[in-house]
Amino acid sequence: MIINADLHIHSKYSMATSKSMDLNTIGTEASKKGIDVVGTGDCLHPMWLEEIKNASTDDSTIKIENTHFVLTTEVEDINRVHHLLILPSISKAEELAERIGKQGNLTSDGRPSVKMDGCEIAEIGKDVEALIGPSHAFTPWTAIYAAHDSLQNCYKDMTGYISFLELGLSADTDYADRIKELHELTFLTNSDAHSPWPNKLAREFTQFSVPEISFDGIKSAILRKNKYGPTLNVGFYPEEGKYNQTACTRCFQHFTLESAKENNWRCPEDRGQIKKGVYDRINELADFDAPMHPSHRPDYIHLIPLSEIIMMALGHSSIHTKGVQQAWNKLITDFGSEVAVLLDTDIERLKVVDEKIVNAISAFRDGKLIIHAGGGGKYGWIELPEKEKQVKAQNTESSNQSRLFDY
Ligand SMILES: [Zn+2]
Ligand SMILES: [Zn+2]
Repeated sequence: MIINADLHIHSKYSMATSKSMDLNTIGTEASKKGIDVVGTGDCLHPMWLEEIKNASTDDSTIKIENTHFVLTTEVEDINRVHHLLILPSISKAEELAERIGKQGNLTSDGRPSVKMDGCEIAEIGKDVEALIGPSHAFTPWTAIYAAHDSLQNCYKDMTGYISFLELGLSADTDYADRIKELHELTFLTNSDAHSPWPNKLAREFTQFSVPEISFDGIKSAILRKNKYGPTLNVGFYPEEGKYNQTACTRCFQHFTLESAKENNWRCPEDRGQIKKGVYDRINELADFDAPMHPSHRPDYIHLIPLSEIIMMALGHSSIHTKGVQQAWNKLITDFGSEVAVLLDTDIERLKVVDEKIVNAISAFRDGKLIIHAGGGGKYGWIELPEKEKQVKAQNTESSNQSRLFDY
Protein backbone atom coordinates (compact mmCIF):
# COMPACT_ATOMS: atom_id res chain seq x y z
CA MET A 1 0.00 0.00 0.00
CA ILE A 2 0.97 3.63 -0.57
CA ILE A 3 0.88 6.10 2.35
CA ASN A 4 1.75 9.76 2.96
CA ALA A 5 3.71 10.48 6.12
CA ASP A 6 4.89 13.61 7.93
CA LEU A 7 7.31 12.29 10.53
CA HIS A 8 8.57 15.48 12.17
CA ILE A 9 6.34 17.93 14.05
CA HIS A 10 6.41 19.55 17.49
CA SER A 11 3.71 19.46 20.17
CA LYS A 12 2.37 22.30 22.29
CA TYR A 13 5.09 21.38 24.81
CA SER A 14 7.88 22.61 22.54
CA MET A 15 9.04 26.22 22.55
CA ALA A 16 7.38 28.64 20.14
CA THR A 17 4.61 26.26 19.14
CA SER A 18 0.86 26.74 18.78
CA LYS A 19 -1.36 25.80 21.72
CA SER A 20 -3.42 23.92 19.15
CA MET A 21 -0.68 21.32 18.65
CA ASP A 22 -2.67 18.62 20.41
CA LEU A 23 -3.34 15.12 19.09
CA ASN A 24 -6.99 15.73 18.16
CA THR A 25 -6.32 18.85 16.12
CA ILE A 26 -3.25 17.36 14.45
CA GLY A 27 -5.18 14.19 13.60
CA THR A 28 -8.11 16.11 12.15
CA GLU A 29 -6.00 18.56 10.15
CA ALA A 30 -3.68 15.82 8.80
CA SER A 31 -6.73 13.88 7.61
CA LYS A 32 -7.91 16.92 5.63
CA LYS A 33 -4.54 17.10 3.91
CA GLY A 34 -4.52 13.45 2.85
CA ILE A 35 -1.78 12.48 5.30
CA ASP A 36 -2.02 8.93 6.67
CA VAL A 37 0.75 8.94 9.26
CA VAL A 38 2.10 11.73 11.47
CA GLY A 39 5.00 11.55 13.89
CA THR A 40 3.89 12.48 17.42
CA GLY A 41 6.99 14.63 17.94
CA ASP A 42 8.24 15.33 21.48
CA CYS A 43 7.56 11.78 22.74
CA LEU A 44 10.16 12.13 25.51
CA HIS A 45 8.17 14.93 27.16
CA PRO A 46 6.31 13.31 30.11
CA MET A 47 3.07 15.28 29.69
CA TRP A 48 2.92 14.78 25.92
CA LEU A 49 3.69 11.07 26.35
CA GLU A 50 0.82 10.88 28.84
CA GLU A 51 -1.53 12.36 26.22
CA ILE A 52 -0.20 9.90 23.64
CA LYS A 53 -0.85 7.03 26.06
CA ASN A 54 -4.39 8.22 26.73
CA ALA A 55 -5.11 8.31 23.01
CA SER A 56 -3.58 4.89 22.32
CA THR A 57 -5.37 1.56 22.09
CA ASP A 58 -2.23 -0.48 22.73
CA ASP A 59 1.54 0.00 23.12
CA SER A 60 1.99 1.07 19.51
CA THR A 61 -1.43 2.01 18.09
CA ILE A 62 -2.55 5.64 18.16
CA LYS A 63 -5.23 6.63 15.67
CA ILE A 64 -7.34 9.79 15.48
CA GLU A 65 -9.83 10.27 12.63
CA ASN A 66 -8.02 8.58 9.75
CA THR A 67 -4.60 9.60 11.03
CA HIS A 68 -2.17 7.10 12.49
CA PHE A 69 0.62 8.31 14.75
CA VAL A 70 4.09 6.85 15.20
CA LEU A 71 6.28 7.84 18.14
CA THR A 72 8.95 10.38 17.22
CA THR A 73 11.15 12.89 18.95
CA GLU A 74 13.84 15.36 18.05
CA VAL A 75 16.90 15.60 20.29
CA GLU A 76 19.57 18.31 20.32
CA ASP A 77 23.09 17.03 20.99
CA ILE A 78 26.04 18.64 22.75
CA ASN A 79 27.18 20.26 19.46
CA ARG A 80 23.68 21.71 18.94
CA VAL A 81 22.97 19.22 16.14
CA HIS A 82 19.34 18.06 15.84
CA HIS A 83 18.54 14.38 15.36
CA LEU A 84 15.17 12.79 14.57
CA LEU A 85 14.29 9.45 16.21
CA ILE A 86 11.38 7.24 15.18
CA LEU A 87 10.40 4.69 17.82
CA PRO A 88 8.52 1.36 17.75
CA SER A 89 6.26 1.87 20.77
CA ILE A 90 5.26 3.82 23.86
CA SER A 91 7.29 1.47 26.08
CA LYS A 92 10.41 2.05 23.94
CA ALA A 93 9.81 5.81 24.23
CA GLU A 94 9.68 5.41 28.02
CA GLU A 95 12.90 3.41 27.92
CA LEU A 96 14.59 6.11 25.81
CA ALA A 97 13.31 8.83 28.17
CA GLU A 98 14.69 6.92 31.14
CA ARG A 99 18.17 6.67 29.60
CA ILE A 100 18.39 10.05 27.92
CA GLY A 101 16.79 11.87 30.87
CA LYS A 102 20.02 11.44 32.83
CA GLN A 103 21.78 13.68 30.30
CA GLY A 104 19.26 16.49 29.98
CA ASN A 105 16.01 18.02 31.21
CA LEU A 106 13.05 16.36 29.46
CA THR A 107 10.36 18.58 30.97
CA SER A 108 11.65 22.03 29.97
CA ASP A 109 11.15 21.64 26.21
CA GLY A 110 9.50 19.09 23.93
CA ARG A 111 12.80 18.90 22.08
CA PRO A 112 15.36 18.18 24.81
CA SER A 113 19.02 19.23 24.70
CA VAL A 114 21.29 16.52 26.04
CA LYS A 115 24.95 16.30 27.02
CA MET A 116 25.75 13.59 24.48
CA ASP A 117 27.19 13.67 20.96
CA GLY A 118 25.58 12.25 17.83
CA CYS A 119 27.32 8.91 18.23
CA GLU A 120 26.13 8.44 21.81
CA ILE A 121 22.54 9.35 20.91
CA ALA A 122 22.62 6.89 18.01
CA GLU A 123 23.94 4.14 20.33
CA ILE A 124 21.04 4.59 22.75
CA GLY A 125 18.68 4.93 19.79
CA LYS A 126 19.85 1.57 18.48
CA ASP A 127 19.37 -0.02 21.91
CA VAL A 128 15.69 0.99 21.89
CA GLU A 129 15.31 -0.10 18.23
CA ALA A 130 14.72 3.44 16.99
CA LEU A 131 15.47 4.71 13.51
CA ILE A 132 17.68 7.77 13.61
CA GLY A 133 18.98 10.42 11.25
CA PRO A 134 19.85 14.13 11.12
CA SER A 135 17.01 16.72 11.03
CA HIS A 136 16.96 19.59 8.47
CA ALA A 137 20.53 18.56 7.67
CA PHE A 138 21.83 21.69 5.92
CA THR A 139 20.40 24.59 7.91
CA PRO A 140 22.99 26.95 9.42
CA TRP A 141 22.08 26.85 13.14
CA THR A 142 21.34 23.42 14.56
CA ALA A 143 22.12 20.88 11.89
CA ILE A 144 24.70 18.21 11.17
CA TYR A 145 26.36 20.09 8.30
CA ALA A 146 26.48 23.31 10.32
CA ALA A 147 28.68 21.57 12.91
CA HIS A 148 30.34 18.83 10.83
CA ASP A 149 31.69 18.19 7.34
CA SER A 150 30.62 14.55 7.15
CA LEU A 151 28.24 11.98 8.63
CA GLN A 152 31.27 10.13 10.01
CA ASN A 153 32.46 13.21 11.88
CA CYS A 154 29.11 13.36 13.72
CA TYR A 155 28.12 9.73 14.20
CA LYS A 156 31.59 8.08 14.28
CA ASP A 157 31.24 4.29 14.78
CA MET A 158 27.47 4.54 14.55
CA THR A 159 27.47 6.04 11.02
CA GLY A 160 26.42 2.70 9.53
CA TYR A 161 23.29 2.69 11.68
CA ILE A 162 22.01 6.02 10.28
CA SER A 163 19.21 5.17 7.87
CA PHE A 164 17.76 8.48 6.74
CA LEU A 165 18.40 12.19 6.38
CA GLU A 166 15.75 14.90 6.61
CA LEU A 167 16.24 17.38 3.77
CA GLY A 168 14.64 20.39 5.48
CA LEU A 169 12.59 23.08 3.78
CA SER A 170 15.57 24.81 2.13
CA ALA A 171 16.88 21.76 0.24
CA ASP A 172 15.57 19.07 -2.09
CA THR A 173 16.83 15.84 -3.62
CA ASP A 174 18.72 17.65 -6.38
CA TYR A 175 20.67 19.57 -3.74
CA ALA A 176 21.44 16.62 -1.46
CA ASP A 177 22.34 14.10 -4.16
CA ARG A 178 25.36 16.20 -5.09
CA ILE A 179 26.94 14.74 -1.93
CA LYS A 180 28.23 11.22 -2.39
CA GLU A 181 28.00 10.03 1.22
CA LEU A 182 24.24 10.65 1.20
CA HIS A 183 23.46 8.28 -1.66
CA GLU A 184 23.01 5.33 0.73
CA LEU A 185 20.42 7.14 2.84
CA THR A 186 16.66 7.44 2.41
CA PHE A 187 15.64 11.11 2.22
CA LEU A 188 12.70 12.25 4.32
CA THR A 189 10.64 15.34 3.60
CA ASN A 190 8.90 16.41 6.83
CA SER A 191 7.14 19.61 7.85
CA ASP A 192 8.80 20.30 11.25
CA ALA A 193 5.45 22.05 11.87
CA HIS A 194 4.94 24.17 14.98
CA SER A 195 1.24 24.77 14.23
CA PRO A 196 -1.43 22.49 12.75
CA TRP A 197 -2.71 24.82 10.03
CA PRO A 198 -2.58 23.72 6.40
CA ASN A 199 0.36 25.91 5.34
CA LYS A 200 2.49 24.29 8.07
CA LEU A 201 1.42 20.73 8.90
CA ALA A 202 2.55 18.40 6.08
CA ARG A 203 3.88 21.29 4.02
CA GLU A 204 6.49 18.61 3.29
CA PHE A 205 5.77 14.87 3.44
CA THR A 206 7.16 11.57 2.19
CA GLN A 207 5.14 8.99 0.29
CA PHE A 208 6.09 5.38 1.04
CA SER A 209 5.24 1.96 -0.22
CA VAL A 210 4.69 -0.11 2.95
CA PRO A 211 3.39 -3.59 3.83
CA GLU A 212 1.16 -2.09 6.55
CA ILE A 213 0.55 1.18 8.42
CA SER A 214 2.75 0.73 11.47
CA PHE A 215 6.23 1.43 12.78
CA ASP A 216 7.42 -1.85 11.23
CA GLY A 217 5.83 -0.90 7.91
CA ILE A 218 7.56 2.47 7.88
CA LYS A 219 10.82 0.87 9.02
CA SER A 220 10.84 -1.51 6.04
CA ALA A 221 10.24 1.50 3.76
CA ILE A 222 13.00 3.65 5.27
CA LEU A 223 15.43 0.71 5.21
CA ARG A 224 14.18 -0.14 1.69
CA LYS A 225 13.62 -3.82 2.55
CA ASN A 226 11.69 -6.34 0.40
CA LYS A 227 10.74 -3.95 -2.41
CA TYR A 228 9.28 -1.41 0.04
CA GLY A 229 10.63 2.12 0.14
CA PRO A 230 10.01 5.84 -0.38
CA THR A 231 8.05 6.46 -3.58
CA LEU A 232 7.93 10.26 -3.60
CA ASN A 233 9.34 13.26 -1.73
CA VAL A 234 6.99 16.23 -1.62
CA GLY A 235 7.96 19.66 -0.40
CA PHE A 236 8.89 23.27 -0.89
CA TYR A 237 10.95 24.66 -3.67
CA PRO A 238 14.25 25.04 -1.79
CA GLU A 239 14.06 28.80 -2.45
CA GLU A 240 10.88 28.96 -0.32
CA GLY A 241 12.82 27.87 2.75
CA LYS A 242 14.04 30.46 5.23
CA TYR A 243 17.70 29.46 5.08
CA ASN A 244 18.08 28.92 1.34
CA GLN A 245 20.38 31.88 0.61
CA THR A 246 23.22 33.39 2.61
CA ALA A 247 21.69 36.42 4.35
CA CYS A 248 21.72 38.79 7.32
CA THR A 249 19.66 37.49 10.24
CA ARG A 250 18.61 41.05 11.15
CA CYS A 251 17.69 42.85 7.91
CA PHE A 252 17.60 39.71 5.69
CA GLN A 253 19.74 41.26 2.97
CA HIS A 254 21.26 38.51 0.81
CA PHE A 255 25.00 38.07 0.24
CA THR A 256 27.14 35.99 -2.04
CA LEU A 257 29.43 33.62 -0.16
CA GLU A 258 32.42 35.78 -1.17
CA SER A 259 30.94 39.04 0.09
CA ALA A 260 29.82 37.37 3.34
CA LYS A 261 33.43 36.27 3.88
CA GLU A 262 34.78 39.73 2.95
CA ASN A 263 32.43 41.24 5.53
CA ASN A 264 33.52 38.72 8.16
CA TRP A 265 29.93 37.39 8.40
CA ARG A 266 28.70 40.76 9.74
CA CYS A 267 26.14 42.80 7.79
CA PRO A 268 27.67 46.16 6.76
CA GLU A 269 24.25 47.83 7.21
CA ASP A 270 23.33 46.82 10.75
CA ARG A 271 26.17 44.55 12.01
CA GLY A 272 23.68 41.66 12.13
CA GLN A 273 25.08 38.14 11.82
CA ILE A 274 25.19 36.76 8.28
CA LYS A 275 24.18 33.09 8.11
CA LYS A 276 25.41 30.77 5.39
CA GLY A 277 22.54 29.59 3.22
CA VAL A 278 21.82 25.97 2.34
CA TYR A 279 22.52 26.71 -1.34
CA ASP A 280 26.08 27.83 -0.55
CA ARG A 281 26.65 25.10 2.05
CA ILE A 282 25.72 22.39 -0.46
CA ASN A 283 28.16 23.89 -2.97
CA GLU A 284 30.93 23.59 -0.39
CA LEU A 285 30.08 19.97 0.43
CA ALA A 286 29.27 18.78 -3.10
CA ASP A 287 31.23 15.95 -4.72
CA PHE A 288 29.36 16.43 -8.01
CA ASP A 289 28.56 19.58 -10.03
CA ALA A 290 25.14 18.15 -10.88
CA PRO A 291 22.94 15.80 -8.84
CA MET A 292 23.70 12.08 -9.26
CA HIS A 293 20.62 10.24 -8.07
CA PRO A 294 21.03 6.66 -6.85
CA SER A 295 18.57 4.21 -8.42
CA HIS A 296 16.45 3.99 -5.25
CA ARG A 297 15.84 7.77 -5.10
CA PRO A 298 12.18 8.67 -5.80
CA ASP A 299 11.00 11.80 -7.62
CA TYR A 300 10.66 15.07 -5.73
CA ILE A 301 7.49 17.12 -6.27
CA HIS A 302 7.71 20.82 -5.43
CA LEU A 303 4.64 22.39 -3.85
CA ILE A 304 3.58 25.78 -2.63
CA PRO A 305 0.97 25.52 0.18
CA LEU A 306 -2.51 25.89 -1.36
CA SER A 307 -3.62 28.32 1.35
CA GLU A 308 -0.72 30.64 0.45
CA ILE A 309 -1.60 30.51 -3.24
CA ILE A 310 -5.21 31.42 -2.37
CA MET A 311 -4.07 34.22 -0.04
CA MET A 312 -1.89 35.69 -2.78
CA ALA A 313 -4.55 35.34 -5.46
CA LEU A 314 -7.15 37.12 -3.29
CA GLY A 315 -4.64 39.75 -2.15
CA HIS A 316 -5.23 38.91 1.52
CA SER A 317 -2.50 39.39 4.11
CA SER A 318 -2.99 36.15 6.07
CA ILE A 319 -4.13 32.58 5.41
CA HIS A 320 -6.53 32.89 8.36
CA THR A 321 -8.98 35.27 6.68
CA LYS A 322 -12.51 34.04 6.09
CA GLY A 323 -12.10 34.28 2.31
CA VAL A 324 -8.97 32.10 2.26
CA GLN A 325 -10.44 29.57 4.69
CA GLN A 326 -13.69 29.25 2.72
CA ALA A 327 -11.95 28.73 -0.61
CA TRP A 328 -9.47 26.25 0.90
CA ASN A 329 -12.23 24.24 2.57
CA LYS A 330 -14.33 24.23 -0.60
CA LEU A 331 -11.44 22.93 -2.74
CA ILE A 332 -10.39 20.28 -0.21
CA THR A 333 -13.98 19.11 0.33
CA ASP A 334 -14.65 18.86 -3.40
CA PHE A 335 -11.36 17.34 -4.56
CA GLY A 336 -9.90 15.52 -1.54
CA SER A 337 -6.45 16.95 -0.86
CA GLU A 338 -4.01 19.75 -1.62
CA VAL A 339 -2.04 17.51 -3.94
CA ALA A 340 -5.23 16.69 -5.86
CA VAL A 341 -6.08 20.39 -6.18
CA LEU A 342 -2.58 21.62 -6.98
CA LEU A 343 -1.52 18.88 -9.36
CA ASP A 344 -4.16 16.37 -10.43
CA THR A 345 -7.63 17.85 -10.85
CA ASP A 346 -8.64 19.19 -14.28
CA ILE A 347 -8.30 22.98 -14.11
CA GLU A 348 -11.84 23.54 -15.46
CA ARG A 349 -13.29 21.61 -12.53
CA LEU A 350 -11.57 23.92 -10.03
CA LYS A 351 -13.83 26.78 -11.11
CA VAL A 352 -16.00 26.28 -8.03
CA VAL A 353 -13.94 29.08 -6.45
CA ASP A 354 -12.96 32.63 -7.47
CA GLU A 355 -11.37 32.71 -10.91
CA LYS A 356 -8.35 34.56 -9.51
CA ILE A 357 -7.56 31.46 -7.44
CA VAL A 358 -7.95 29.15 -10.42
CA ASN A 359 -5.62 31.37 -12.45
CA ALA A 360 -3.04 31.30 -9.67
CA ILE A 361 -3.20 27.48 -9.46
CA SER A 362 -2.84 27.38 -13.22
CA ALA A 363 0.21 29.67 -13.02
CA PHE A 364 1.67 27.35 -10.36
CA ARG A 365 1.15 24.32 -12.62
CA ASP A 366 2.77 26.14 -15.55
CA GLY A 367 5.77 27.04 -13.40
CA LYS A 368 5.01 30.74 -13.76
CA LEU A 369 4.79 31.81 -10.14
CA ILE A 370 7.76 33.93 -9.14
CA ILE A 371 9.57 32.71 -6.04
CA HIS A 372 11.76 35.18 -4.17
CA ALA A 373 14.32 33.17 -2.26
CA GLY A 374 14.41 33.13 1.54
CA GLY A 375 17.49 33.51 3.75
CA GLY A 376 18.72 34.49 7.21
CA GLY A 377 15.54 33.11 8.83
CA LYS A 378 13.00 34.74 6.51
CA TYR A 379 10.89 32.50 4.28
CA GLY A 380 10.91 32.96 0.54
CA TRP A 381 7.77 34.54 -0.91
CA ILE A 382 5.71 34.09 -4.04
CA GLU A 383 4.26 36.47 -6.55
CA LEU A 384 1.88 36.21 -9.47
CA PRO A 385 3.48 36.54 -12.88
CA GLU A 386 1.96 39.84 -13.97
CA LYS A 387 3.96 41.42 -16.75
CA GLU A 388 5.39 44.39 -14.90
CA LYS A 389 6.17 42.35 -11.83
CA GLN A 390 8.13 39.92 -14.01
CA VAL A 391 10.22 42.77 -15.37
CA LYS A 392 10.84 44.07 -11.86
CA ALA A 393 11.83 40.62 -10.61
CA GLN A 394 14.25 40.09 -13.49
CA ASN A 395 15.84 43.49 -12.94
CA THR A 396 16.59 42.69 -9.33
CA GLU A 397 17.63 39.10 -10.00
CA SER A 398 21.28 39.58 -9.13
CA SER A 399 20.65 41.33 -5.85
CA ASN A 400 17.87 39.28 -4.31
CA GLN A 401 18.16 36.00 -6.22
CA SER A 402 14.56 36.05 -7.42
CA ARG A 403 13.77 33.25 -9.77
CA LEU A 404 11.14 32.84 -12.42
CA PHE A 405 10.51 29.14 -12.51
CA ASP A 406 9.95 27.18 -15.63
CA TYR A 407 10.05 23.44 -15.18
ZN1 LIG B 1 15.24 20.84 14.65
ZN1 LIG C 1 21.59 43.36 8.06
